[in-house]
Amino acid sequence: MTPTCPACHTRPRRPGQYLCGPDWAQLPTAARRALSARGDRGKAMARLRELHHQLAAGTPLANIQITL
Ligand SMILES: [Zn+2]
Repeated sequence: MTPTCPACHTRPRRPGQYLCGPDWAQLPTAARRALSARGDRGKAMARLRELHHQLAAGTPLANIQITL
């Protein structure tokens, strides 16, 4: 079963990314870069939590900020 995108809940998530293609493209460049950064796994999980918190709060994709 393909995981569903946590932003739109309709389209499948792209492999290796956190959102579907159209939603990923709406994220600010800085947020995309932070979420794509390789390295510290703990930090990557913290960034993912930031993304999910903002999605749960109804933050528009274009306004999402990843600070960690
Ligand atoms: Zn989506």
